[in-house]
Amino acid sequence: MEKLPPLKDVISRHQLRAKKSLGQNFLLDLNLTSKIARYAGNLDQFDILEIGPGPGGLTRSLLNEGARKVVAIEKDSRCIEALEEIQATFPGRLKLLQGDALSTNASEHLADPVRIIANLPYNIGTELLVRWLTSKTWPSFWQSMTLMFQKEVANRIVASPGSKAYGRLSVMSQWRCDTKIAFNVPATAFTPPPKVESTLVHFEALKEPKFPAEVEVLEFVVSKAFNQRRKMLRGALKGYFQNVEEGLVSIGVLPTKRAEDITVQEYCAMSQILIRK
Ligand code: SAM
Repeated sequence: MEKLPPLKDVISRHQLRAKKSLGQNFLLDLNLTSKIARYAGNLDQFDILEIGPGPGGLTRSLLNEGARKVVAIEKDSRCIEALEEIQATFPGRLKLLQGDALSTNASEHLADPVRIIANLPYNIGTELLVRWLTSKTWPSFWQSMTLMFQKEVANRIVASPGSKAYGRLSVMSQWRCDTKIAFNVPATAFTPPPKVESTLVHFEALKEPKFPAEVEVLEFVVSKAFNQRRKMLRGALKGYFQNVEEGLVSIGVLPTKRAEDITVQEYCAMSQILIRK
C-alpha cells in the first residue's frame, strides 16, 4: 500500500480551498474512491483518462487498483503540485496534463484499451459526455466510462421512453452504450457538499451501435424533436424536414406522438428517412 498523507493534510498543505467556479467538490473518503475505481471493472490492462483529479483521492485509488497508467487533466495549477506527490509514489504511471479538459487532447498519451473514470466538474460534465458519445468514428477511443453526475443528469442518461427524464442524453447514451446507474452518493460525501445529490453512472461501449444511423443526423433529429417536447412530432419537426408526416407514417411512427414517446430505434429510423429542408 502506498504511503501518501491523508487527503485532508494535502489540502491544507497546498491550500486547496475549493473554488466554486471550478466545480470543486472533493471526495476525501478513500473507501468511496476505491469503490468507484472497482466499479469501473478490471483496471490491470487499462489506461485510464481521469478529468479533474483535484487533490487526487480517486487518482490514488485508480493506481492502487492496478491501472496500467492514469492520464489526468486538471485545470487548477494548485492541484497539479499536490498531484506530483502521487506521481512520485507511482513512477511512470501518472501523466498530469494541466489545462481545460474541453480543449486538451490526451490521445497521444493513451494506449488501448482505455477507460474514462471521473468525478466530473458538473459545469462541463454534460458537454464532455456528449462529445464522448458523439464521436465521428465508432468504436471510439474508450471502452467504458464510469462518471459521477448530478443525480438528475444520471436519471436522464438511463431514462426510458415515456418518462419525464427521457431526452437527448438518454437517446445518445443508449444508442451506442449499455448504461446503468452504479450507486448514489450523498452530498455529505463531498467537501464541500454540493447542493444536489450525485450518482455514479457506468457506460459500456457497444462494438456497434444498437441501430444504424449517422451520428450527426441522429443528433439533429433528436435535438429538434426534444427542443419542442410538448409538441406532436409532426409540428416539432415540420420546420426542419420535408414531408414529415408521410416520412413518419412510412416507418410506422404516429406523427401525433411526442418526442418523449419515441424509442431509440424509432429515432434511428427517423434519422435515416427524413430529408433536411
Ligand atoms: N476528482 C476529485 C475528487 O473526486 O475529489 C475532484 C473532483 S471535483 C468535482 C472536479 C475537478 O475538476 C476539480 O479538481 C476541478 O479543479 C477540475 N476542473 C474543473 N473544471 C475543469 C476543466 N475545465 N478541465 C479540467 N479540470 C477541471
